[in-house]
Amino acid sequence: MNLADTGLAPYAALDATSRGRPHSEPRHEYRGEFQRDRDRVLHSTAFRRLVYKTQVFVNHEGDMYRTRLTHSLEVAQIARTIARELHLNETLAEAICLAHDLGHTPFGHAGQDALNECTREYGGFEHNLQSLRVVDELEQRYADFPGLNLTYETREGILKHCSAKNARGLGELGVRFLERSQPGLEAQIANVADAIAYNHHDVDDGLRAGLLDLDELVEVGLFGELFSAVAAGYPAAPRKRQVSETVRRMIDTVVTDLLQTTRENLAELQAADIDGIRAAGRPMLSFSARIQGLHTELKQYLHGRLYRHHRVLRMTRKARRVVTELFAVYMEDPRLMPPEHAAMSERYSEQSGVAGTVRAVTDYIAGMTDRFAISEHRRLFDPLESP
Ligand code: MG
Repeated sequence: MNLADTGLAPYAALDATSRGRPHSEPRHEYRGEFQRDRDRVLHSTAFRRLVYKTQVFVNHEGDMYRTRLTHSLEVAQIARTIARELHLNETLAEAICLAHDLGHTPFGHAGQDALNECTREYGGFEHNLQSLRVVDELEQRYADFPGLNLTYETREGILKHCSAKNARGLGELGVRFLERSQPGLEAQIANVADAIAYNHHDVDDGLRAGLLDLDELVEVGLFGELFSAVAAGYPAAPRKRQVSETVRRMIDTVVTDLLQTTRENLAELQAADIDGIRAAGRPMLSFSARIQGLHTELKQYLHGRLYRHHRVLRMTRKARRVVTELFAVYMEDPRLMPPEHAAMSERYSEQSGVAGTVRAVTDYIAGMTDRFAISEHRRLFDPLESP
C-alpha cells in the first residue's frame, strides 16, 4: 500500500487507484498525489487573488468580513475534520476546498450574474466550470503543461455543478452530470462543507455588519435553539461573545449530525471502493431530517434578509454595472486589455470568431479582484483618471 493511503477506508480516494492527471507525470519521491494537488493550488496566482474577492461583503467594506480566501480556508477546515473522522482522504478534501472558488468573478454572485448575462448568447458563465478552466488551462506555471495538471479526483470535486450542455464537452469528467452518478466522498464533503461554512459565517458577518437583526434571528432554526441555551448559561457575557459561542456550537452540531447520518448511509451502502460510492444513486453525505430542516430554514432566512438587504442590493447594482461596462468596452476593442490578454483574444478569435473574443474577455474579467475591477473601470471611464 502506498504510504499516503495508510489507514484510509476502502472507499476513500486513494493515491494507488487515482485515475491520474490529464498529462501523465512520474510520481514524486515522497509527496502523495493529492498532496501535490493541494500544494499546486496553494501556490497558484488565482488562489492568492481570493483575498481580494468578495464573498458577500465587498472587500473595501471592512477588514473583519470573510473574503473568498478566508471562506475557502474555513471550508477546508470543516472538510478536513469530516474527512479525518470518516477515514477518508483528508488531503484530497483540502485540495478540493482550497480550489473550489478559484473561478469566481469579482463581486461574488453579483459579478457572476452580470458576466453570465453578458455571455448568454455564447453559452453563459458558470463559476464551477471557470474554476476547472483555471486549474486546467489558465494557470501558467509549469514548463511541461498548461494549468496545474491536477488529478481526476480533485478536478471531479471542483466541478460541483455543470449544465448538461457543458458536461457533454468535458469527456470523462462530465459523465456524472449526464448519468446522474455521484462524485467520490471527498468531493461530497467539500460540497457540504461549503454550505456549512457560508451559512454560519454569513450569520456572523451579517450581525456584525448590522444587516441581520438579532431579535429576529433568535427565532430562526438552530440559531434560535442554541442562542437561548448560551444566553441562559452565560447571561453576563457580552452579546458578541454569546453570538460567537452560538455560531461555534451550530457548526459543531451540524458537523456531528452529518458524521452520524453519513456513517449510517455508508454502513447501509457497503461500498467496496470509490467506484461503489460513485455508482450509488444518492449522495452519502447527508444530515438527519431534523438538522436538514433547520439548515434549510437558516439558508432561506439568509436569502431573504441578508442577500436582499438594501445595502447589499445597492452594492450588487454597482458591481453589475462595473462588470457589464468592462465587458462591453473590451468586446468593442480587445486591445484595451493588457497585451497578453489581447493576444489571447486574437488567437481565440482566429479559431472561433466572436465566441473566441468573448472567451478571452471573460477569462480576463473573471480573474480580476474586486479592487482591480473597480480601479480598471475608473481608468477606462473616468476622463480625469490616468488610463
Ligand atoms: Mg464557496
